[in-house]
Amino acid sequence: MDKGDWDYSVFWKEAMNHIRSDISEQEFVMWFNNIDYAGAKESEITLTVPSSFYRDQVKQRYLPRIEQILLDLAGTKISLSFVVNQQAVVKQTSREKSEVKKKKVEKPPKAHHPQLRAAYTFNNFVIGENNSFAANASIAIAKNPGKAYNPCLIYGGVGLGKTHLIQSIGNSAHTDFDSIKIEYITAETFTNEFIQSIRNQSTHKFKNKYRTVDILLIDDIHFLQNKNETQEELFHTFNALYDANKQMVFTCDRPVSELKHLSSRLRSRFERGLNVDLQPPSYETRFAILRQKIDEKEVAIPQEVIELIARNVTTNVRDLESALTKLIAYADLVNKQITLEVAQQLLRDIFSNPRQSNITIEVIQRTVADYFGLSHNDLRGRKRTNAIAFPRQIAMFIARELTEYSTTEVGREFGGRDHTTVMHACQKIEERKRTDPTLEPTIQHLIREAKEFGTKG
Ligand code: ADP
Ligand code: MG
Repeated sequence: MDKGDWDYSVFWKEAMNHIRSDISEQEFVMWFNNIDYAGAKESEITLTVPSSFYRDQVKQRYLPRIEQILLDLAGTKISLSFVVNQQAVVKQTSREKSEVKKKKVEKPPKAHHPQLRAAYTFNNFVIGENNSFAANASIAIAKNPGKAYNPCLIYGGVGLGKTHLIQSIGNSAHTDFDSIKIEYITAETFTNEFIQSIRNQSTHKFKNKYRTVDILLIDDIHFLQNKNETQEELFHTFNALYDANKQMVFTCDRPVSELKHLSSRLRSRFERGLNVDLQPPSYETRFAILRQKIDEKEVAIPQEVIELIARNVTTNVRDLESALTKLIAYADLVNKQITLEVAQQLLRDIFSNPRQSNITIEVIQRTVADYFGLSHNDLRGRKRTNAIAFPRQIAMFIARELTEYSTTEVGREFGGRDHTTVMHACQKIEERKRTDPTLEPTIQHLIREAKEFGTKG
């Protein structure tokens, strides 16, 4: 890259400060955390971006604004050029990045950690507004184990990246630190190992293994529910590591407060440090994730097909990946171009989401009614008191989220209401979510309950 003698990095930094104060933090994280100043020549700054998708989006959305700011700052026109650099997906500041690079140059490459999947790294984890807090906390932990956030608990539904993140912490620390002892284990394996050690009368070995690590990563701790002896053992392990300032990270499929069958003293340990959540990705993030996966796989998939998938697969990243895998496998098999028609045909089953088909509007109504101490008929009835109207709006909202029913059909299930009433309800809930931070977790909780109910029944 031609760096020349020009250095506009200060202007760039300042321009970023302007942009940051112009747009929301989420938007900023989404589009600018991934861009780095790479160098400059006369009247031109070169930036690295992680993909052509990012380049095009940033150009479309912000280019005139950024160039205007640069003009104001420098008093002369500075244009921007972009270099697509796949490695740049790392969400670190450029300084942190060069530190990591320096360290890497000095060290011979290390064999990969036996319990960790090498594919789970921060490099290929796409950060969006749904996961940026969890991802940035994880990066901080990997850089400063035992010091930044300890313990840390990452929670969120299936397929949202818990395992990817917790393993990325392990992989990153494993490469960056020389003699660091990292244990990654699922709560299920932890439980089985513990039971086995009781049988073999080797619990001392078990205790020794887990109480002498520098980083303990336990995935899916919801599995520990009702496993009282294992909970007891983990409680003591926790205390030993905590007292020694050793890093612990846990994942869970729901907030710890909702684990009903967990001893309260262990729960209070989990709640002690940082608890961060992973939410389902927004359309933009889904799009960015698909682009990332496509870049990785080096296949050609038209923009309109990516949009189709991003629009229709809304549940989680795992489902996004399987839609993509199915498409690619098909194209490979029949040696055919992936067109919009082919994709629509092929992904019909995935789009209609069979996993959610057990969830009827009645299940949703009963779940919501239960939660608010109302009857199922209250939600279907005509009463409009606030105590009923709000839960009814929530139930309508969830019905639209979880089922394929149209607003007309949903209206019919709620005592023959008009479809505009349903639309209005959904709007109200969206609005209220913006001002009431407790609403989203409540809705997520109800969705989980409805799903559980739905799969049982
Ligand atoms: P969980 O443990 O929460 O069920 P996983 O970590 O197994 O979810 O994620 C499911 C799949 O989606 C994995 O293949 C993972 O690599 C991928 N994935 C999840 N979140 C992201 C992300 N933000 N960027 C890229 N890939 C992701
Ligand atoms: Mg997992």
